[in-house]
Amino acid sequence: MSFLDVSGAEKAFGSATVLGGVNLGVAQGEFVSLLGPSGCGKTTLLRIVAGLLGLDRGTVKLDGQDITTLPPHRRDVGVVFQNYALFPHLTVAENVAFGLKARRRSADDTREAVKKFLELVHLSDFANRSVRALSGGQQQRVAVARALAVRPKLLLLDEPFSALDRKLRETMQIDLRRLLRELGTTSVFVTHDQDEALTMSDRIAVMNKGAIEQFDTPEAIYRRPSTSFALEFVGLSSRLGGTVLGSHGDLVKVETAFGHLVAPGSFVPGAKVLLAVRPERIKVDGHGDYALKARLRDAVFQGSKVQLHFEVAEGDHLLVETSDLPGGIPMPGTEMKLGWAVADTLIYPAS
Ligand code: ATP
Repeated sequence: MSFLDVSGAEKAFGSATVLGGVNLGVAQGEFVSLLGPSGCGKTTLLRIVAGLLGLDRGTVKLDGQDITTLPPHRRDVGVVFQNYALFPHLTVAENVAFGLKARRRSADDTREAVKKFLELVHLSDFANRSVRALSGGQQQRVAVARALAVRPKLLLLDEPFSALDRKLRETMQIDLRRLLRELGTTSVFVTHDQDEALTMSDRIAVMNKGAIEQFDTPEAIYRRPSTSFALEFVGLSSRLGGTVLGSHGDLVKVETAFGHLVAPGSFVPGAKVLLAVRPERIKVDGHGDYALKARLRDAVFQGSKVQLHFEVAEGDHLLVETSDLPGGIPMPGTEMKLGWAVADTLIYPAS
């Protein structure tokens, strides 16, 4: 059994079902992100695990114990909220000590833990400062130190970086990930930012409309999205609509605006499908199982790579990302030969 085991979680607010029987298993020491668009139920699931919301049906188990009906303070779960929820009238050290005092730890233990966790989040010099006199990033680190100081079995984080600017957010993502790995803390992290989820997670649960569509490693989700929703929510892709002509073994032949293309899969003839390829898997020298001709619409220089957008039929999208353009960035209107491998072609039922 998983260290955290959410099973058959159902939750409705009035007549609106927000979670429709969610299962989620998190291993000890693992960092799992709940990733999905606004309103898909991420925060609701997190609050249920924290004990801040009750379940209509289902169970939550942590370290073998059924905690479904336990109040939050008896769950051994730490929470870092989006707005940090620090105590404004207390100093940095008093905030970090708060949970330890509530658990009646000795004064020596409390002092030791506060010292250790302020060091871990690089705030030792700020111990006696009011939390009101801190920057957003520093407040965020106090919230993390406060949640971790009691050494909870599980740490829950709800979009903890959303108030920070991009550069600071990227630094904090890496710092926090390193800290949690060093401590071996099992963590569940809510975000709607795919880059954040890809950077930080051991596994990502892609959520859509109160259900988990795919639960896998970042690499597997990027390379083999199991649904067209996961494909579109995580990373960019070229997408061509088509109709299945027939199948041969485990390959299907599809008629598209670019002619007949082949993808690994199993669909009946006549089925409407969506073909997709990740932009870096398409070669502009035409190498691969195909050599399609397409006319360049735009080239966007992005520093380490160039994005090439091609003219396509309505509803389609042909996008290539490359850092390998020996002749320089081509002009719009240039006809180019694009190639990719059948094995890199993803196929989904058209929605
Ligand atoms: P966001 O990224 O915007 O926070 P989310 O995926 O975390 O989105 P939730 O906060 O879990 O989404 O909300 C899921 C749905 O449940 C939303 O439609 C929301 O309006 C609704 N909802 C959440 N809390 C309540 C509540 N207390 N009463 C009624 N509806 C609620």
